[in-house]
Amino acid sequence: MSAPVIFSGIQPTGRKHLGNYIGAIRQYVEAQERGEPAIFCIVDLHAISVAYDPAELRERLYDTTAILLAAGLDPQRCVLFRQSDVREHAELTWLLSAVTAHGDLNRMHQFKDKSAKQRELVSAALFFYPVLMAADVLAYKAEEVPVGDDQRQHVELMREIARRFNERFGETLVEPEHRIPTVGARIMDLQEPERKMSTTGATEAGTIYVLDEPGAIRKKLGSAVTDSGREVRRGGDKPGVTNLIDVLAVTRGVDPPAIEAEFAGAGYGDFKAAVAEGVVELLAPVRERYAELRPDEAALEAVLAAGAEKARAIAAPTLAEARDHMGIGAPRK
Ligand code: ATP
Ligand code: MG
Repeated sequence: MSAPVIFSGIQPTGRKHLGNYIGAIRQYVEAQERGEPAIFCIVDLHAISVAYDPAELRERLYDTTAILLAAGLDPQRCVLFRQSDVREHAELTWLLSAVTAHGDLNRMHQFKDKSAKQRELVSAALFFYPVLMAADVLAYKAEEVPVGDDQRQHVELMREIARRFNERFGETLVEPEHRIPTVGARIMDLQEPERKMSTTGATEAGTIYVLDEPGAIRKKLGSAVTDSGREVRRGGDKPGVTNLIDVLAVTRGVDPPAIEAEFAGAGYGDFKAAVAEGVVELLAPVRERYAELRPDEAALEAVLAAGAEKARAIAAPTLAEARDHMGIGAPRK
């Protein structure tokens, strides 16, 4: 099999956290070795679907760019760009809306969750988010989409949209496959382990940020909610401990059962201390490198501009093809 086109997007909202790092960013770094090309997009157009501050959005965009570079994305080996720089995403969104079922959008869990949290306005953008996400991926004819578990439904929908488009207008788009990690696909909030760690909807004390200092990481993990009982084992009745086992397994590069075996008979205190050290070691190099990269905004802009040029060169022909097959614009020569 030839090397796959790989695409994924990440929002420049808030501060990126351990869930993003484990579920997504870690996979991106690995995808660079396999993708031909591997394309990563900082999705500022998605970020405007909830309440936000324009000046802060720009700051967060640089933060996110620097985090991705610090984590190991190499602009020589991947395409890293800002979504809004490639106008094709917005245009393709509208074209795809013609083959997107309103009823399907109505079923999206993320819309239900996030709309319930909006205090002032539930924007149409929040409802339409999955169509823009479909355009992001389909514009590149990507075959593989590395994401966390929460994006499963959105990837299923983009497959459906591609299928409908091809049926209606002739073979044009590629149905992508999601790539969800086997361990760490859904890192939970440390204080409320029934819900996922999240940029916008989690507790502050239950969220470990990629840029947290070691002291903060140790403190948050030390006060992580555990469950009744004393055993370090996974189970539906032990969401807190199960989450911590997954986190430690990822940081050590082993399977969760190996962690259960190692900590059989140990108390929660020793176990949590080990998780904290694992996370500190995982994130410290990223934080240090970030501190070097973040101040040079001109350099970050240069990376994004070069990435956008490469991205446009791939997306523009797909758009031309989609327009042509749909009968939009002058006929192609
Ligand atoms: P929001 O809650 O505002 O949607 P987010 O934390 O989900 O923010 P995104 O930028 O939307 O952040 O997601 C980037 C990537 O991180 C996606 O691939 C998503 O699936 C993944 N991801 C998000 N939260 C987690 C989590 N708790 N565990 C594992 N992966 C996650
Ligand atoms: Mg999200």
